[in-house]
Amino acid sequence: MFCRLPLSVIKQQRFTRFLIHRTTMESANLRDLNEPLVDHAEGQHFLNEAFKIIVEEVLCKGTDATQKVCEWKQPDELSLLLDLELRETGEPQDRILQRVRDVAKYSIKTSHPRFFNQQYGGVDYHSLAGRFLTEALNTNLFTYEVAPVFVLMETEVLKGLRQLVGWSEGDGLFCPGGSTSNMYAMNLARYRLFPEVKTRGLWSLPRLTIFTSPQSHYSVQKGAAFLGIGTENVVLVKVDDGGRMIPEDLDRNIELSKSQGAVPFLVSCTSGTTVKGAFDPLDQIADVCDKHKIWMHVDAAWGGSVLFSKQHRHLMKGVDRASSVAWNPHKMLVAGLQCSTLLLKDTTNLLKQCHSASATYLFQQDKFYDMNLDIGDKSVQCSRKVDCLKLWLMWKAIGSAGLAERVDKGFVHARYLVDEMKKRDGFHLVSVPEFVNVCFWYIPPSLRGKEGSADYQDRLAKVAPVIKERMVKQGTMMVGYQPLGNLVNFFRVIVFSPVVSRRDVDFFLDEIERLGKDL
Ligand SMILES: *Cc1c(COP(=O)(O)O)cnc(C)c1O
Repeated sequence: MFCRLPLSVIKQQRFTRFLIHRTTMESANLRDLNEPLVDHAEGQHFLNEAFKIIVEEVLCKGTDATQKVCEWKQPDELSLLLDLELRETGEPQDRILQRVRDVAKYSIKTSHPRFFNQQYGGVDYHSLAGRFLTEALNTNLFTYEVAPVFVLMETEVLKGLRQLVGWSEGDGLFCPGGSTSNMYAMNLARYRLFPEVKTRGLWSLPRLTIFTSPQSHYSVQKGAAFLGIGTENVVLVKVDDGGRMIPEDLDRNIELSKSQGAVPFLVSCTSGTTVKGAFDPLDQIADVCDKHKIWMHVDAAWGGSVLFSKQHRHLMKGVDRASSVAWNPHKMLVAGLQCSTLLLKDTTNLLKQCHSASATYLFQQDKFYDMNLDIGDKSVQCSRKVDCLKLWLMWKAIGSAGLAERVDKGFVHARYLVDEMKKRDGFHLVSVPEFVNVCFWYIPPSLRGKEGSADYQDRLAKVAPVIKERMVKQGTMMVGYQPLGNLVNFFRVIVFSPVVSRRDVDFFLDEIERLGKDL
Protein backbone atom coordinates (compact mmCIF):
# COMPACT_ATOMS: atom_id res chain seq x y z
CA MET A 1 0.00 0.00 0.00
CA PHE A 2 1.37 3.42 -1.00
CA CYS A 3 1.01 6.29 1.39
CA ARG A 4 0.00 9.64 -0.17
CA LEU A 5 0.47 11.86 2.85
CA PRO A 6 2.99 14.72 2.71
CA LEU A 7 6.51 13.71 3.67
CA SER A 8 6.55 15.79 6.85
CA VAL A 9 3.46 13.96 8.13
CA ILE A 10 4.90 10.61 7.25
CA LYS A 11 8.08 11.47 9.10
CA GLN A 12 6.05 12.63 12.06
CA GLN A 13 4.06 9.39 12.08
CA ARG A 14 7.16 7.29 11.87
CA PHE A 15 8.68 9.19 14.70
CA THR A 16 5.65 8.73 16.96
CA ARG A 17 5.50 5.06 16.11
CA PHE A 18 9.17 4.76 16.90
CA LEU A 19 8.64 6.52 20.23
CA ILE A 20 5.72 4.35 21.18
CA HIS A 21 7.64 1.28 20.18
CA ARG A 22 10.67 2.42 22.12
CA THR A 23 8.75 3.19 25.27
CA THR A 24 7.00 -0.18 25.31
CA MET A 25 10.29 -1.90 24.51
CA GLU A 26 12.03 0.01 27.22
CA SER A 27 9.51 -0.74 29.89
CA ALA A 28 9.56 -4.37 28.84
CA ASN A 29 13.32 -4.37 28.79
CA LEU A 30 13.62 -2.92 32.26
CA ARG A 31 11.61 -5.79 33.58
CA ASP A 32 12.79 -8.63 31.29
CA LEU A 33 16.44 -7.90 30.80
CA ASN A 34 17.12 -8.89 34.36
CA GLU A 35 15.68 -12.32 33.58
CA PRO A 36 17.03 -14.79 31.01
CA LEU A 37 14.74 -15.92 28.22
CA VAL A 38 15.00 -19.44 29.52
CA ASP A 39 13.18 -20.50 32.65
CA HIS A 40 15.51 -23.15 34.04
CA ALA A 41 13.10 -24.67 36.52
CA GLU A 42 10.45 -25.07 33.88
CA GLY A 43 12.97 -26.32 31.31
CA GLN A 44 14.42 -28.91 33.64
CA HIS A 45 11.00 -30.13 34.62
CA PHE A 46 10.19 -30.54 30.95
CA LEU A 47 13.45 -32.38 30.37
CA ASN A 48 12.70 -34.81 33.20
CA GLU A 49 9.28 -35.51 31.78
CA ALA A 50 10.68 -35.94 28.27
CA PHE A 51 13.37 -38.23 29.62
CA LYS A 52 10.76 -40.47 31.25
CA ILE A 53 9.02 -40.81 27.90
CA ILE A 54 12.29 -41.55 26.13
CA VAL A 55 13.13 -44.28 28.63
CA GLU A 56 9.65 -45.76 28.43
CA GLU A 57 9.12 -45.62 24.68
CA VAL A 58 12.61 -46.07 23.29
CA LEU A 59 14.39 -48.12 25.93
CA CYS A 60 11.62 -50.17 27.59
CA LYS A 61 9.13 -50.77 24.80
CA GLY A 62 11.78 -50.26 22.13
CA THR A 63 13.81 -53.25 23.34
CA ASP A 64 10.88 -55.49 24.28
CA ALA A 65 10.64 -58.45 21.91
CA THR A 66 6.86 -58.55 22.32
CA GLN A 67 6.57 -54.99 20.96
CA LYS A 68 6.89 -53.92 17.35
CA VAL A 69 10.21 -52.97 15.72
CA CYS A 70 8.45 -50.47 13.51
CA GLU A 71 5.04 -48.88 13.18
CA TRP A 72 4.70 -48.64 9.41
CA LYS A 73 2.70 -45.72 7.99
CA GLN A 74 2.49 -44.38 4.47
CA PRO A 75 4.34 -41.04 4.19
CA ASP A 76 1.14 -38.97 3.72
CA GLU A 77 -0.50 -40.53 6.73
CA LEU A 78 2.64 -40.15 8.84
CA SER A 79 2.91 -36.51 7.89
CA LEU A 80 -0.62 -35.91 9.12
CA LEU A 81 -0.18 -37.92 12.30
CA LEU A 82 2.92 -35.95 13.22
CA ASP A 83 1.42 -32.56 12.35
CA LEU A 84 4.82 -31.43 11.11
CA GLU A 85 3.98 -27.86 10.07
CA LEU A 86 5.79 -25.12 12.00
CA ARG A 87 3.73 -22.14 13.25
CA GLU A 88 3.99 -18.64 14.64
CA THR A 89 2.93 -19.49 18.20
CA GLY A 90 4.37 -22.10 20.50
CA GLU A 91 2.49 -24.97 22.07
CA PRO A 92 1.89 -25.92 25.72
CA GLN A 93 4.25 -28.37 27.38
CA ASP A 94 1.87 -31.32 27.51
CA ARG A 95 1.41 -31.02 23.76
CA ILE A 96 5.16 -30.96 23.28
CA LEU A 97 5.55 -34.03 25.48
CA GLN A 98 2.96 -35.77 23.31
CA ARG A 99 5.12 -34.85 20.32
CA VAL A 100 8.14 -36.45 21.99
CA ARG A 101 6.04 -39.59 22.44
CA ASP A 102 4.88 -39.53 18.80
CA VAL A 103 8.40 -39.18 17.46
CA ALA A 104 9.45 -42.20 19.50
CA LYS A 105 6.35 -44.17 18.54
CA TYR A 106 6.70 -43.81 14.79
CA SER A 107 10.48 -44.17 14.64
CA ILE A 108 12.26 -47.44 13.99
CA LYS A 109 13.36 -49.18 17.18
CA THR A 110 16.97 -49.81 16.28
CA SER A 111 17.68 -51.07 19.82
CA HIS A 112 15.13 -53.85 19.40
CA PRO A 113 16.44 -57.45 19.45
CA ARG A 114 14.72 -58.06 16.11
CA PHE A 115 16.25 -55.15 14.27
CA PHE A 116 18.70 -56.91 11.93
CA ASN A 117 18.47 -54.34 9.17
CA GLN A 118 21.78 -52.57 9.37
CA GLN A 119 25.30 -52.73 10.73
CA TYR A 120 24.27 -50.85 13.83
CA GLY A 121 21.62 -51.84 16.34
CA GLY A 122 21.05 -52.73 19.95
CA VAL A 123 21.91 -50.46 22.82
CA ASP A 124 24.74 -49.98 25.27
CA TYR A 125 23.66 -47.98 28.29
CA HIS A 126 27.09 -46.62 29.11
CA SER A 127 27.65 -45.29 25.63
CA LEU A 128 24.14 -43.88 25.69
CA ALA A 129 24.97 -42.04 28.90
CA GLY A 130 28.05 -40.73 27.11
CA ARG A 131 25.86 -39.55 24.25
CA PHE A 132 23.47 -37.74 26.59
CA LEU A 133 26.40 -36.14 28.41
CA THR A 134 27.93 -35.05 25.11
CA GLU A 135 24.68 -33.41 24.09
CA ALA A 136 24.24 -31.69 27.42
CA LEU A 137 27.77 -30.30 27.44
CA ASN A 138 27.36 -29.21 23.84
CA THR A 139 30.92 -28.31 23.08
CA ASN A 140 33.03 -28.20 20.00
CA LEU A 141 36.07 -30.36 19.51
CA PHE A 142 38.48 -27.90 17.95
CA THR A 143 40.47 -26.25 20.69
CA TYR A 144 41.73 -27.22 24.14
CA GLU A 145 40.19 -24.00 25.32
CA VAL A 146 36.59 -25.15 24.72
CA ALA A 147 37.07 -28.92 24.98
CA PRO A 148 39.90 -29.62 27.42
CA VAL A 149 38.51 -32.97 28.54
CA PHE A 150 37.70 -34.16 25.06
CA VAL A 151 40.95 -33.13 23.39
CA LEU A 152 42.77 -35.35 25.87
CA MET A 153 40.14 -38.08 25.71
CA GLU A 154 40.05 -38.26 21.91
CA THR A 155 43.83 -38.56 21.86
CA GLU A 156 43.68 -41.42 24.36
CA VAL A 157 40.89 -43.32 22.60
CA LEU A 158 42.67 -43.04 19.25
CA LYS A 159 45.84 -44.32 20.91
CA GLY A 160 43.93 -47.31 22.30
CA LEU A 161 42.51 -48.16 18.88
CA ARG A 162 45.90 -47.69 17.19
CA GLN A 163 47.46 -50.10 19.66
CA LEU A 164 44.98 -52.74 18.58
CA VAL A 165 46.04 -52.11 14.99
CA GLY A 166 49.62 -52.64 16.15
CA TRP A 167 50.95 -49.09 16.04
CA SER A 168 52.68 -47.59 19.09
CA GLU A 169 52.72 -44.15 17.44
CA GLY A 170 50.65 -42.34 14.88
CA ASP A 171 47.81 -39.92 14.46
CA GLY A 172 44.08 -39.94 13.80
CA LEU A 173 40.77 -38.20 14.01
CA PHE A 174 37.15 -38.93 14.80
CA CYS A 175 35.22 -38.30 11.59
CA PRO A 176 31.53 -37.97 10.80
CA GLY A 177 31.22 -41.54 9.49
CA GLY A 178 33.27 -44.17 7.73
CA SER A 179 32.65 -42.68 4.30
CA THR A 180 34.32 -39.49 5.46
CA SER A 181 37.17 -41.44 7.05
CA ASN A 182 37.76 -43.15 3.71
CA MET A 183 37.79 -39.80 1.91
CA TYR A 184 40.33 -38.45 4.39
CA ALA A 185 42.61 -41.39 3.66
CA MET A 186 42.31 -40.66 -0.04
CA ASN A 187 43.12 -37.00 0.41
CA LEU A 188 46.12 -37.78 2.62
CA ALA A 189 47.51 -40.37 0.23
CA ARG A 190 47.31 -37.88 -2.61
CA TYR A 191 48.80 -35.07 -0.53
CA ARG A 192 51.74 -37.22 0.54
CA LEU A 193 52.60 -37.83 -3.09
CA PHE A 194 51.71 -34.37 -4.42
CA PRO A 195 51.74 -31.78 -1.58
CA GLU A 196 51.32 -29.01 -4.17
CA VAL A 197 47.72 -30.17 -4.64
CA LYS A 198 46.81 -28.14 -1.56
CA THR A 199 47.79 -24.85 -3.15
CA ARG A 200 47.73 -25.45 -6.88
CA GLY A 201 44.82 -27.85 -7.04
CA LEU A 202 44.05 -30.56 -9.55
CA TRP A 203 45.69 -28.41 -12.25
CA SER A 204 49.10 -29.62 -11.07
CA LEU A 205 48.38 -33.37 -11.08
CA PRO A 206 48.76 -36.32 -13.44
CA ARG A 207 45.92 -38.84 -13.76
CA LEU A 208 45.69 -40.71 -10.45
CA THR A 209 44.26 -44.20 -9.91
CA ILE A 210 42.74 -45.99 -6.91
CA PHE A 211 42.41 -49.76 -6.53
CA THR A 212 39.65 -51.47 -4.62
CA SER A 213 37.39 -54.50 -4.91
CA PRO A 214 33.95 -54.39 -6.53
CA GLN A 215 32.53 -55.34 -3.11
CA SER A 216 34.14 -52.42 -1.29
CA HIS A 217 31.92 -49.70 0.13
CA TYR A 218 30.42 -47.18 -2.28
CA SER A 219 32.13 -44.36 -0.41
CA VAL A 220 35.30 -45.18 -2.36
CA GLN A 221 33.44 -44.13 -5.52
CA LYS A 222 31.96 -41.11 -3.80
CA GLY A 223 35.35 -40.07 -2.47
CA ALA A 224 36.90 -40.33 -5.93
CA ALA A 225 34.13 -38.12 -7.30
CA PHE A 226 34.26 -35.64 -4.42
CA LEU A 227 38.02 -35.21 -4.49
CA GLY A 228 38.26 -34.72 -8.23
CA ILE A 229 39.93 -38.07 -8.87
CA GLY A 230 37.03 -39.37 -10.93
CA THR A 231 35.08 -42.61 -10.59
CA GLU A 232 36.56 -43.90 -13.86
CA ASN A 233 39.91 -43.85 -12.11
CA VAL A 234 38.76 -46.32 -9.48
CA VAL A 235 40.04 -49.66 -10.74
CA LEU A 236 38.05 -52.69 -9.57
CA VAL A 237 40.26 -55.63 -8.69
CA LYS A 238 38.86 -59.16 -8.99
CA VAL A 239 37.63 -61.02 -5.92
CA ASP A 240 37.50 -64.72 -5.09
CA ASP A 241 34.30 -66.66 -4.34
CA GLY A 242 34.26 -65.37 -0.79
CA GLY A 243 34.44 -61.74 -1.99
CA ARG A 244 38.12 -61.19 -1.05
CA MET A 245 40.42 -59.12 -3.24
CA ILE A 246 42.89 -61.22 -5.26
CA PRO A 247 46.41 -59.78 -4.67
CA GLU A 248 47.79 -61.08 -8.00
CA ASP A 249 45.03 -59.26 -9.86
CA LEU A 250 45.81 -56.13 -7.87
CA ASP A 251 49.46 -56.30 -8.92
CA ARG A 252 48.46 -56.87 -12.55
CA ASN A 253 46.09 -53.90 -12.53
CA ILE A 254 48.64 -51.58 -10.96
CA GLU A 255 51.18 -52.51 -13.67
CA LEU A 256 48.55 -51.97 -16.34
CA SER A 257 47.56 -48.59 -14.95
CA LYS A 258 51.20 -47.46 -14.87
CA SER A 259 51.71 -48.61 -18.46
CA GLN A 260 48.75 -46.40 -19.41
CA GLY A 261 50.49 -43.36 -17.94
CA ALA A 262 48.46 -43.07 -14.73
CA VAL A 263 49.87 -42.79 -11.23
CA PRO A 264 48.46 -45.45 -8.87
CA PHE A 265 48.40 -43.82 -5.44
CA LEU A 266 45.97 -45.72 -3.21
CA VAL A 267 44.80 -49.25 -2.55
CA SER A 268 41.61 -49.29 -0.51
CA CYS A 269 41.22 -52.74 1.03
CA THR A 270 38.19 -53.79 3.04
CA SER A 271 38.10 -55.63 6.33
CA GLY A 272 34.52 -56.80 6.57
CA THR A 273 32.75 -55.92 3.34
CA THR A 274 29.35 -54.38 3.80
CA VAL A 275 27.26 -57.14 2.25
CA LYS A 276 29.22 -60.36 2.61
CA GLY A 277 31.55 -59.46 5.46
CA ALA A 278 34.65 -60.52 3.55
CA PHE A 279 38.16 -59.70 4.70
CA ASP A 280 40.68 -58.84 2.00
CA PRO A 281 44.05 -60.60 2.57
CA LEU A 282 45.94 -57.63 4.03
CA ASP A 283 49.37 -59.23 4.32
CA GLN A 284 49.58 -60.15 0.65
CA ILE A 285 48.09 -56.82 -0.39
CA ALA A 286 50.72 -55.07 1.74
CA ASP A 287 53.43 -56.88 -0.26
CA VAL A 288 51.96 -55.46 -3.47
CA CYS A 289 51.68 -51.97 -1.96
CA ASP A 290 55.29 -52.12 -0.71
CA LYS A 291 56.47 -53.21 -4.15
CA HIS A 292 54.78 -50.27 -5.85
CA LYS A 293 55.17 -47.83 -2.93
CA ILE A 294 51.45 -47.17 -2.77
CA TRP A 295 49.44 -45.96 0.23
CA MET A 296 47.54 -48.88 1.70
CA HIS A 297 44.24 -47.93 3.30
CA VAL A 298 42.11 -50.45 5.16
CA ASP A 299 38.41 -49.71 5.27
CA ALA A 300 37.61 -51.58 8.47
CA ALA A 301 34.51 -49.50 9.17
CA TRP A 302 32.60 -52.71 9.67
CA GLY A 303 35.17 -55.39 10.49
CA GLY A 304 37.68 -53.39 12.56
CA SER A 305 36.13 -54.55 15.80
CA VAL A 306 37.55 -58.06 15.34
CA LEU A 307 40.83 -56.54 16.51
CA PHE A 308 39.46 -56.77 20.05
CA SER A 309 39.03 -60.52 19.74
CA LYS A 310 42.00 -62.82 20.34
CA GLN A 311 40.11 -65.53 18.52
CA HIS A 312 39.22 -63.56 15.39
CA ARG A 313 41.81 -60.80 14.98
CA HIS A 314 43.74 -63.03 12.58
CA LEU A 315 41.18 -61.95 9.94
CA MET A 316 43.05 -58.64 9.80
CA LYS A 317 46.56 -60.04 9.89
CA GLY A 318 48.86 -57.53 8.23
CA VAL A 319 46.76 -54.46 9.13
CA ASP A 320 49.80 -52.98 10.92
CA ARG A 321 51.47 -52.70 7.52
CA ALA A 322 48.78 -50.29 6.27
CA SER A 323 49.16 -46.50 6.26
CA SER A 324 45.62 -45.78 7.38
CA VAL A 325 42.59 -47.55 8.83
CA ALA A 326 38.94 -46.44 8.97
CA TRP A 327 37.02 -48.03 11.83
CA ASN A 328 33.43 -47.37 12.99
CA PRO A 329 32.89 -48.23 16.65
CA HIS A 330 29.25 -47.24 16.10
CA LYS A 331 28.73 -50.47 14.21
CA MET A 332 29.77 -53.71 15.89
CA LEU A 333 30.81 -52.16 19.20
CA VAL A 334 27.43 -50.41 19.63
CA ALA A 335 29.02 -47.09 20.59
CA GLY A 336 26.07 -45.22 19.07
CA LEU A 337 25.78 -43.07 15.98
CA GLN A 338 28.02 -41.71 15.12
CA CYS A 339 31.41 -42.90 16.15
CA SER A 340 33.92 -43.33 13.39
CA THR A 341 37.67 -43.06 13.40
CA LEU A 342 40.47 -42.58 10.96
CA LEU A 343 43.71 -44.06 12.30
CA LEU A 344 47.07 -43.18 10.82
CA LYS A 345 50.52 -44.65 11.09
CA ASP A 346 52.00 -41.28 10.12
CA THR A 347 54.16 -39.43 12.66
CA THR A 348 54.98 -36.39 10.51
CA ASN A 349 51.80 -34.41 11.17
CA LEU A 350 50.51 -35.10 7.68
CA LEU A 351 46.88 -34.69 8.77
CA LYS A 352 47.47 -31.14 9.90
CA GLN A 353 49.73 -30.17 7.01
CA CYS A 354 47.18 -31.46 4.54
CA HIS A 355 44.09 -29.83 6.06
CA SER A 356 45.13 -26.83 8.12
CA ALA A 357 44.00 -23.34 7.22
CA SER A 358 45.41 -21.75 10.41
CA ALA A 359 42.41 -19.51 11.11
CA THR A 360 43.74 -16.78 13.35
CA TYR A 361 40.49 -16.28 15.23
CA LEU A 362 40.51 -19.86 16.49
CA PHE A 363 44.05 -21.17 16.42
CA GLN A 364 45.94 -18.19 17.79
CA GLN A 365 49.64 -18.85 17.96
CA ASP A 366 50.21 -16.84 21.15
CA LYS A 367 48.01 -18.86 23.50
CA PHE A 368 49.06 -19.64 27.04
CA TYR A 369 49.07 -23.44 26.54
CA ASP A 370 50.57 -25.98 24.14
CA MET A 371 48.98 -25.14 20.78
CA ASN A 372 49.36 -28.72 19.59
CA LEU A 373 46.33 -29.39 21.76
CA ASP A 374 44.21 -27.36 19.33
CA ILE A 375 43.60 -30.40 17.18
CA GLY A 376 40.75 -28.89 15.16
CA ASP A 377 42.90 -27.76 12.26
CA LYS A 378 43.60 -31.40 11.35
CA SER A 379 40.00 -31.65 10.27
CA VAL A 380 38.24 -30.23 7.21
CA GLN A 381 35.40 -29.28 9.55
CA CYS A 382 35.21 -26.24 11.75
CA SER A 383 32.57 -27.30 14.29
CA ARG A 384 33.24 -30.89 15.18
CA LYS A 385 31.05 -32.98 17.42
CA VAL A 386 32.47 -34.90 20.36
CA ASP A 387 32.32 -38.56 19.36
CA CYS A 388 34.91 -40.03 21.71
CA LEU A 389 33.08 -39.85 25.03
CA LYS A 390 30.49 -42.54 24.26
CA LEU A 391 33.19 -45.01 23.27
CA TRP A 392 35.47 -44.05 26.15
CA LEU A 393 32.75 -44.43 28.78
CA MET A 394 31.63 -47.80 27.41
CA TRP A 395 35.23 -49.03 27.10
CA LYS A 396 35.91 -47.94 30.69
CA ALA A 397 32.76 -49.72 31.86
CA ILE A 398 33.28 -53.13 30.25
CA GLY A 399 36.96 -53.03 29.35
CA SER A 400 38.64 -54.45 26.27
CA ALA A 401 37.59 -57.89 27.54
CA GLY A 402 33.92 -56.91 27.48
CA LEU A 403 34.21 -55.55 23.96
CA ALA A 404 36.02 -58.73 22.86
CA GLU A 405 33.22 -60.82 24.35
CA ARG A 406 30.70 -58.82 22.35
CA VAL A 407 32.58 -59.54 19.12
CA ASP A 408 33.02 -63.24 19.95
CA LYS A 409 29.36 -63.60 20.78
CA GLY A 410 28.42 -62.16 17.39
CA PHE A 411 30.45 -64.90 15.71
CA VAL A 412 28.82 -67.58 17.89
CA HIS A 413 25.31 -66.36 17.03
CA ALA A 414 26.18 -66.22 13.33
CA ARG A 415 27.53 -69.78 13.39
CA TYR A 416 24.42 -70.95 15.22
CA LEU A 417 22.24 -69.26 12.63
CA VAL A 418 24.09 -71.00 9.81
CA ASP A 419 23.80 -74.40 11.55
CA GLU A 420 20.08 -73.92 12.11
CA MET A 421 19.60 -72.92 8.46
CA LYS A 422 21.19 -76.17 7.39
CA LYS A 423 18.63 -78.09 9.47
CA ARG A 424 15.69 -76.41 7.72
CA ASP A 425 14.42 -76.65 4.17
CA GLY A 426 14.43 -73.56 2.02
CA PHE A 427 17.44 -71.71 3.42
CA HIS A 428 20.28 -71.49 0.95
CA LEU A 429 23.53 -69.73 1.87
CA VAL A 430 25.09 -67.36 -0.68
CA SER A 431 28.55 -68.25 0.63
CA VAL A 432 30.13 -69.51 3.82
CA PRO A 433 30.23 -66.50 6.16
CA GLU A 434 33.64 -65.28 7.25
CA PHE A 435 32.15 -62.77 9.67
CA VAL A 436 28.76 -62.07 11.27
CA ASN A 437 27.02 -61.28 7.98
CA VAL A 438 24.91 -64.25 6.94
CA CYS A 439 23.76 -63.95 3.33
CA PHE A 440 21.08 -66.36 2.18
CA TRP A 441 18.13 -66.94 -0.11
CA TYR A 442 14.86 -68.16 1.27
CA ILE A 443 13.38 -70.56 -1.26
CA PRO A 444 9.62 -70.89 -0.72
CA PRO A 445 8.12 -74.40 -1.12
CA SER A 446 6.68 -73.48 -4.56
CA LEU A 447 10.18 -72.90 -5.93
CA ARG A 448 11.97 -75.86 -4.37
CA GLY A 449 13.34 -78.35 -6.85
CA LYS A 450 12.70 -75.93 -9.73
CA GLU A 451 16.29 -74.61 -9.97
CA GLY A 452 16.45 -75.70 -13.60
CA SER A 453 13.41 -73.75 -14.80
CA ALA A 454 13.95 -70.72 -17.04
CA ASP A 455 12.25 -68.16 -14.79
CA TYR A 456 13.70 -69.49 -11.53
CA GLN A 457 16.08 -66.56 -10.93
CA ASP A 458 13.39 -63.99 -11.76
CA ARG A 459 10.97 -65.60 -9.34
CA LEU A 460 13.61 -65.97 -6.65
CA ALA A 461 14.50 -62.30 -7.02
CA LYS A 462 10.92 -61.36 -6.06
CA VAL A 463 10.83 -63.38 -2.83
CA ALA A 464 12.96 -61.19 -0.53
CA PRO A 465 11.17 -57.89 -1.35
CA VAL A 466 7.76 -59.41 -0.57
CA ILE A 467 8.92 -60.94 2.72
CA LYS A 468 10.50 -57.60 3.59
CA GLU A 469 7.30 -55.69 2.87
CA ARG A 470 5.29 -58.08 5.01
CA MET A 471 7.65 -57.92 7.99
CA VAL A 472 7.77 -54.13 7.93
CA LYS A 473 4.01 -53.77 7.64
CA GLN A 474 3.51 -56.20 10.51
CA GLY A 475 6.39 -54.66 12.45
CA THR A 476 7.76 -58.00 13.61
CA MET A 477 11.39 -57.56 12.53
CA MET A 478 13.65 -55.84 10.04
CA VAL A 479 16.36 -57.35 7.87
CA GLY A 480 17.98 -56.10 4.67
CA TYR A 481 18.19 -57.65 1.21
CA GLN A 482 20.07 -56.77 -1.95
CA PRO A 483 21.33 -58.13 -5.24
CA LEU A 484 25.11 -58.38 -5.65
CA GLY A 485 26.89 -58.63 -9.00
CA ASN A 486 24.97 -61.33 -10.90
CA LEU A 487 23.31 -62.72 -7.76
CA VAL A 488 19.60 -61.93 -7.43
CA ASN A 489 18.08 -60.47 -4.25
CA PHE A 490 19.18 -62.26 -1.10
CA PHE A 491 18.86 -61.45 2.59
CA ARG A 492 21.79 -60.22 4.64
CA VAL A 493 21.22 -60.79 8.32
CA ILE A 494 23.75 -59.42 10.74
CA VAL A 495 23.86 -60.75 14.26
CA PHE A 496 26.11 -58.87 16.62
CA SER A 497 23.93 -56.68 18.81
CA PRO A 498 24.38 -57.35 22.53
CA VAL A 499 20.61 -57.37 23.03
CA VAL A 500 20.19 -60.39 20.74
CA SER A 501 19.84 -63.85 22.26
CA ARG A 502 19.51 -67.29 20.73
CA ARG A 503 15.72 -66.95 21.08
CA ASP A 504 15.80 -64.01 18.65
CA VAL A 505 17.90 -65.98 16.19
CA ASP A 506 15.34 -68.82 16.27
CA PHE A 507 12.55 -66.29 15.89
CA PHE A 508 14.30 -64.85 12.85
CA LEU A 509 14.23 -68.17 11.02
CA ASP A 510 10.65 -68.97 12.03
CA GLU A 511 9.53 -65.54 10.92
CA ILE A 512 11.15 -65.76 7.48
CA GLU A 513 9.35 -69.09 7.02
CA ARG A 514 6.05 -67.73 8.28
CA LEU A 515 6.19 -64.71 6.00
CA GLY A 516 7.43 -66.53 2.92
CA LYS A 517 6.01 -70.04 2.86
CA ASP A 518 3.01 -69.16 0.66
CA LEU A 519 5.04 -67.37 -2.01
C1 LIG B 1 29.34 -48.86 6.85
C2 LIG B 1 30.52 -48.89 6.00
C3 LIG B 1 31.12 -47.70 5.57
C4 LIG B 1 30.47 -46.36 5.73
O1 LIG B 1 30.45 -45.89 7.01
P1 LIG B 1 29.45 -44.68 7.36
O2 LIG B 1 29.77 -44.38 8.78
O3 LIG B 1 28.07 -45.23 7.17
O4 LIG B 1 29.75 -43.57 6.43
C5 LIG B 1 32.31 -47.78 4.90
N1 LIG B 1 32.86 -48.97 4.64
C6 LIG B 1 32.30 -50.13 5.01
C7 LIG B 1 32.99 -51.41 4.68
C8 LIG B 1 31.11 -50.13 5.70
O5 LIG B 1 30.52 -51.29 6.02
